[in-house]
Amino acid sequence: MTPGTIWGVMLRKKVFQQWEIVEELAKMYSYLPKRYIRMRVQEMVKIQSQNGTLVKVHENPDILAVSKYSLDWERYYTTYYTCEVCGKKFIPSMPHQKVCSKECKHEHQVKLCREYRRPSEERERNRKHLPWTKEEEEEILKAFPGLRYSKTIAQNLSLKLRRSPEAIRRRLYQLRRGAER
Ligand SMILES: [Zn+2]
Repeated sequence: MTPGTIWGVMLRKKVFQQWEIVEELAKMYSYLPKRYIRMRVQEMVKIQSQNGTLVKVHENPDILAVSKYSLDWERYYTTYYTCEVCGKKFIPSMPHQKVCSKECKHEHQVKLCREYRRPSEERERNRKHLPWTKEEEEEILKAFPGLRYSKTIAQNLSLKLRRSPEAIRRRLYQLRRGAER
């Protein structure tokens, strides 16, 4: 991967976010660690920005344009995703982003919780026969401020740990008793 290939990908895309170039190069150089590719892309952005060859045209998320396309960059920018919740088109700030906003993210999580409670899926994902690991217990201790139970937190954690909110509640109480001793 030479500076020429990195710059070539940028020229081809014309208007882009840094991570798009990283994704593109990661496809071409799947044997290279992404961390390394990211570093090289960052270097290139820095150099070309100092030269004025790359111009930042949008902030949060940061969008860069090859200077000659910077004035009408919106014509060339193509990376829009469709929000899975509200259906709105949005500019993703990372790859594989599913929702457009904090509000839609919340909505999406609620939906996932509902799906999780479906009996067939629950059987498939249930981990209740597995013993609790130290990592899981640490997750629980971190998740509940002051070790106070909250249904919302339990539901979110339940998706992550693939344990039922009820099992998490029981474990929290056990851990709390352990902590008091
Ligand atoms: Zn949305």
